[in-house]
Amino acid sequence: MRAERFWRGVAVSEGLALGRVLRLHGGESQNIYRATLDRQDIEREVTRFQAAVELSRRQLLSIKERAELALGAEHAYIFDAHLLMLEDRKLLDEVEAYIRRERANAEWAVRVAADRLLAVYEEIKDDYLRERSSDIEDVTRRLLVALSGAPHTRRVTADAIIVAEELLPSAAAELDFAHVRAVATDAGGWTSHTAIIARGLGVPAVVGLRELYRHARTGDEIIVDALRGEVILHPAPRTVARCREEMAGLRRPAARRSGLALAQASEPLRTLDGVEIALRANVELPAEYEGVRRFGAQGIGLYRTEFLLSQRGRMPTEDEQCEAYLEVAALAGAEGAKVRLFDLGGDKLSADDVGAERNPALGLRAIRFCLQREDVLRTQVRALLRAAARGRLDLVLPMISDVAEVRRARRIIEEERARLQREGREFGALKTGAMIEVPSAVVMADALARAVDFFSLGTNDLVQYLLAVDRGNDEVADWFRTLHPAVLQSIRRTLAAAETASIPANVCGEMAATPAYAVILIGLGARDLSMAASSIPRVRRALAAVDAERARETAAECLACETADEVEELVRVRLGTAWPQLFPPNSLPAPKRER
Ligand code: PEP
Ligand code: MG
Repeated sequence: MRAERFWRGVAVSEGLALGRVLRLHGGESQNIYRATLDRQDIEREVTRFQAAVELSRRQLLSIKERAELALGAEHAYIFDAHLLMLEDRKLLDEVEAYIRRERANAEWAVRVAADRLLAVYEEIKDDYLRERSSDIEDVTRRLLVALSGAPHTRRVTADAIIVAEELLPSAAAELDFAHVRAVATDAGGWTSHTAIIARGLGVPAVVGLRELYRHARTGDEIIVDALRGEVILHPAPRTVARCREEMAGLRRPAARRSGLALAQASEPLRTLDGVEIALRANVELPAEYEGVRRFGAQGIGLYRTEFLLSQRGRMPTEDEQCEAYLEVAALAGAEGAKVRLFDLGGDKLSADDVGAERNPALGLRAIRFCLQREDVLRTQVRALLRAAARGRLDLVLPMISDVAEVRRARRIIEEERARLQREGREFGALKTGAMIEVPSAVVMADALARAVDFFSLGTNDLVQYLLAVDRGNDEVADWFRTLHPAVLQSIRRTLAAAETASIPANVCGEMAATPAYAVILIGLGARDLSMAASSIPRVRRALAAVDAERARETAAECLACETADEVEELVRVRLGTAWPQLFPPNSLPAPKRER
């Protein structure tokens, strides 16, 4: 029996789970190692490579068949290019020769051959050939996954615990999340995508585990303890017994609590002193939709549309998008849904035609990509305008850093509206808002508030950009200080600009999902919060039991602090004194640690 191993990380989605590891390859992020083979193993390695080529070929043929049926032959041609590459004898011979000559493992040989080919294509600098580069990357990735023996389609067993370096939406889209018990990843922090996805689905998650992925094997027994921020691999029988006991204990009060939450959910939320607060849901994956009604969300405060791309691996058509937006509008009901334009790049999915960037968080992402690829933007806008004829939808512009971007986007929206009218097609009214998540947008908040119909305050990126700290890098998690005075002053400034211009402002970053932070947000003047649906009950419980006026006094004190440490200490003392039942000492943000 293997010895129990223990990892400490950051708990980002509450709960405790016992199950079996399902290792998930991150595709690109897969580490390719170099091994030197013994002579007698060389031919076996060549055969292993040939089997991977055959497996990839069969996968591609079946994908191509499905694509042809669903989309027509003209869209399935891309897979022909991939198939041709797998049949290209020159490439295959090169890999096999490399394995034999260098006594190298197949993964390494594939990577070397692909990199050589890519280098040649890079040199030529031709648009068509650049497109071919992404085909090479795609086929290479498929081959590497085939060599790893990992299943390409993720049939998830009932006790699966996902272990990955990072859980990206593209990988999550391939999973049947109904069976996933928990998630544990090497990278990530409270606002990383892994965390957002896990909270959205209501599954326990611990991130920032560094080397877990390397040590875990699919099928290993594992405990994810997101109450303590721990993961235990190969747990000993007595650890398993203790975990089972604790899980049984957790189930009882949780069931009672959620019953209470559901009973209250339909009533509007008011603080003790009668201030009305809207709690909306953030959604991305369809698996999250079910929680929107169950947890009593007042519509959808943020729909992250990037999922539409990860699902299909290409830009969805206008009709496909229109259908997806109608589904979200129906789910949101009378309160409506705020649909954000593709927020590509950075920590999100990358658009195929944006090559590797040195600094993607500061690169061609979000609104910049949309304005550069007007065809993509116009298609999305048309789909939204059409869907708005039959449901209440708003449009959100991501990562705005300049009023000029709003003006350009609004002009395009106007042009598409006029075009639909000329075409005699049905369309609806679409309010346009801006994500406030870049420091320059905060500085220009007054002007921006005059240019849009509403603000969506994205605290995840706001903290990242304001404090210059990567939201997904656990190495710098101690610098990701949500309660930094600069963050609080920026939020106050943004909310004040919205008040002056009489436009609504919704706070949709992860900050709103943590009860103590939500109280501070209310104190700063926020009245409209949006979060993973599964977080709504606990935020509702907290806000229903506090005074907005007292929260305002505490927030005012926080705004006068000079350091994040001071604010965190102040919040701990003030909230713990005012509402000790709600905020016992260990429930408040730990110093120097996110959350
Ligand atoms: C944010 O940045 O706070 C936000 C809500 O958007 P995302 O997490 O998708 O970047
Ligand atoms: Mg953002």
